[in-house]
Amino acid sequence: MITNLQTPIDYLKGVGPNRADLLRKELGIHTYQDLLNLFPNRYLDRTRYYKINELQRNSSEVQIIGKITSVKEVAQKRGKRLVAKFQDDTGSMELVWFRSQKWIRDNLKPNRPYVIFGKINWFNGAFSMPHPEMELLEEHKKSLRSAMQPIYPSTEKLNNKGITNRVINTIMQQLFIESKGRFIETLSKPLLSELKLPSKSEALLNIHFPKNQDLLARAQYRLKFEELFYIQLQLILKNLIHKSKIKGFPFNSVGTYFNTFFKTHLPFELTNAQKRVLKEIRADLGSNAQMNRLLQGDVGSGKTIVAFMSMLMALDNGFQACLMAPTEILSVQHYNGLSELCKNLNISIKILTGSSNTSERKEIHESLENGSLQILIGTHALLEDKVKFKNLGLAIIDEQHRFGVEQRSKLWKKNTTPPHILVMTATPIPRTLAMSVYGDLDISIIDELPPGRQAIKTVHRYDKNRLKVFGFIRDEIDKGRQVYIVYPLIQESEKMDYKDLMDGYESIARDFPAPKYQISIVHGKMKPADKDYEMQRFVNGETQIMVATTVIEVGVNVPNASVMVIESAERFGLSQLHQLRGRVGRGAEQSYCILMTGHKLSNDSKIRLETMTKTSDGFEIAEVDLRLRGPGDIMGTQQSGVLNLRIANIVKDKDILQAARYHAKKILNADPTLTHENNQPILYTYKQMSKYKNIWNYIS
Ligand code: ADP
Ligand code: MG
Repeated sequence: MITNLQTPIDYLKGVGPNRADLLRKELGIHTYQDLLNLFPNRYLDRTRYYKINELQRNSSEVQIIGKITSVKEVAQKRGKRLVAKFQDDTGSMELVWFRSQKWIRDNLKPNRPYVIFGKINWFNGAFSMPHPEMELLEEHKKSLRSAMQPIYPSTEKLNNKGITNRVINTIMQQLFIESKGRFIETLSKPLLSELKLPSKSEALLNIHFPKNQDLLARAQYRLKFEELFYIQLQLILKNLIHKSKIKGFPFNSVGTYFNTFFKTHLPFELTNAQKRVLKEIRADLGSNAQMNRLLQGDVGSGKTIVAFMSMLMALDNGFQACLMAPTEILSVQHYNGLSELCKNLNISIKILTGSSNTSERKEIHESLENGSLQILIGTHALLEDKVKFKNLGLAIIDEQHRFGVEQRSKLWKKNTTPPHILVMTATPIPRTLAMSVYGDLDISIIDELPPGRQAIKTVHRYDKNRLKVFGFIRDEIDKGRQVYIVYPLIQESEKMDYKDLMDGYESIARDFPAPKYQISIVHGKMKPADKDYEMQRFVNGETQIMVATTVIEVGVNVPNASVMVIESAERFGLSQLHQLRGRVGRGAEQSYCILMTGHKLSNDSKIRLETMTKTSDGFEIAEVDLRLRGPGDIMGTQQSGVLNLRIANIVKDKDILQAARYHAKKILNADPTLTHENNQPILYTYKQMSKYKNIWNYIS
C-alpha cells in the first residue's frame, strides 16, 4: 500500500498537534503531501574538503581539515574579538569569534585535527571564517550524516518554537520511513524514458536526502520539469477547451470595407510584422472559435492600424466593433486618428468617455442598439451596463495591463455570443514569461518598427551637468520642438517625491521664464479635468515643456515632442524607462532621451542605465528587466501565479520550461483527452491537482 499523502500532518509520528499547528500557519503544510513538497532552499555541501590554498574569494561555505596553532584576543572599537590561527599543510587562515569568547577559549583544543565548516570572508589579503562550526576530526568520522545537508525554508517563529532545520529534517525522515519512500509516479513512462528522468520516488529521495551533487541535479531537473509541465498542460488544455466549447462568430468574408481601405486608403505600406499579425487575426476570426489574442508590440510599432483593420473585418461581416483605452486622452487620440480613416469609408464612429454629456450618451446608446453606430471608442465608460450593442463582434483593449481581468470579462458579456477579443500591449513580455502568464491566450508579436524611424539618442547625464542639459533643451525649443521632464513618484515616498517635483518645476520655471516659455505641469494630485486641460495645452503646442510624474507614461502621442528628460532615472524600473522614452521619437525629427541621475548608483541601476543607452529593443530590455527583478514585478504578471512556483524559476529554468511546454503540447496533440493507457499517470495527477486545487494556485 502506498501511503495516502492527503493524510493530515498531525498524524505523522513526531509532529503532534502543536507542531502541526505551527507548520500549518507558518509554512502552509497541512498534509503529508505538503511536507513532501517543501523543497530545500539550498544545501550545505559537506561532501568536499577544501585545502586552504584552494579557497576562492567567492567561495561560500566550505569545509576544511586543519589545526589551531594559536589563539589571541584583539581589541576593537567596541569590546574585543577572539582570533585563532588555523592551519593545514597548504597554508593558514583565521577563525574569528565576536560572541561566547570565554566558552570557546576554554574549549578549543590546540594542535588537534578539527573539521571546520562555514562561510569565508576575504579581508586585508587573508581569509577568515567567523563563528565556524567545529568538530574534532575523530568525532566527525564517527557521526557520518547525510553528505549534503538540506536547508529548508523557515520562519523566525518556527525557529523560536524549536522547529529547527534539524527537526524538519527528522520529520521528513519519518515521512520516508512511514511511506517506505514509495510514491505514486506522476509522469508517464514514455516521458521518463525519453527524457531520462529519475522516477518520482527517486527524485523525492534525492531532493531531501541527496548523496551527491549529481543525484541532486537530476532530482531537481525532474521536479522542475514536472512542475512546469503541469502548468503548461493546464494552460494548453484551457486553450483547447476554450476553442472547442466557446463558439465565436465566424467572419467568413473579407469584404468591401477591408478591401477598399487596403487598396485605396492605406496611408502607408504595412510592415511585414503587421501583415503577419493581420493574417493571424484573420485566421482566428475566420474559424468557428472565439478569438482571444494578445498583441504585443513595442511603442510606435503600429498596433493601431492593425486594430482598425481587424475592426473592418467585423464590419464587413455585419458586426459592430469597439476599442477601449485606459485614459480619456488616449481614447480621444484614437478617436481622432480613426475618424480620419473612417471618413473615406463612410463608417459611423463615436467616442464615449466619462465626460460625454447626457445627450451624447443617449444618442450613442440608441445608435448602438439599433446598429447604426458601427465603431465605438472609449474608456471604462464602455463597460457600463447601459452600453448595449446590437451585435458586437470584436472588442479591442489597448494597453491591457492597465485593465484588470474583471474588466476584460465584462466585455465578453456584452453579447450572448462573446465577441472576439484582441488585447494590445506595448509592454513587451519575454516569451518564456508570456508562455506562463498568458499561456491560455494566443500571442501575436509586432517585432519591427515602421521604416524611416530615427533611433532615439539616449544619454546618461549626472545632475551636476544640469546647466548643459538645460542649454540643450533651450536649443531644441528654439527649433520649435517640445520637451518632457519627468519626475519619479513612488507611493512610499510620495511626499518627498511631490516636493522634488515642485522644486524641479520652480527651477525650470526660473530657467525658462514666461512669456517666452510656457510650461505644463501634470501630477497625480490634480483633478482629472485639470490634468486633461494641462495635457491638452501641451498636445496643442501651447506649452513647450511638460513637467510631469509618470502619468504621461501611457500612449500619449505628441509627435513634435523630441526630448524626454527623466529625473532621478536610477529610481525607475527598466520597463518604465522604456515606456517613457517611447513618448518621443514619434515625429520626423531626431529625438533624445536624457537620463539624469545623482552620482551614487547601485549595480542594478548601472545595468539599467547602460541597457537603456545601449538598446531600444523592447524585448531585449524586458529580458534584462526579468533577470534583474525576477518575474514578480514585471507588469501584468502580479495577479498570475507564476511567482508561486515551488521549485522551478521562470528566469533560470527557461530551457526546462520550453521542454515542458513542448512535451505538454505533443502529448495533448496526440491524445487531447489523455485517455491513452500511457497517459494515465498524467490524467490521474492532473485530476488530483485540480481536486486539491494545487494547480489553480498557479493560474489567475
Ligand atoms: P503603437 O503600436 O504604439 O500603438 P501606433 O499605432 O500609434 O503605435 O503607430 C505609431 C505611428 O506609426 C503612428 O503615427 C502610425 O500612423 C505610424 N505607422 C504605423 N504603421 C506604420 C507603417 N507601416 N509605416 C509607416 N508608419 C506607420
Ligand atoms: Mg498605441
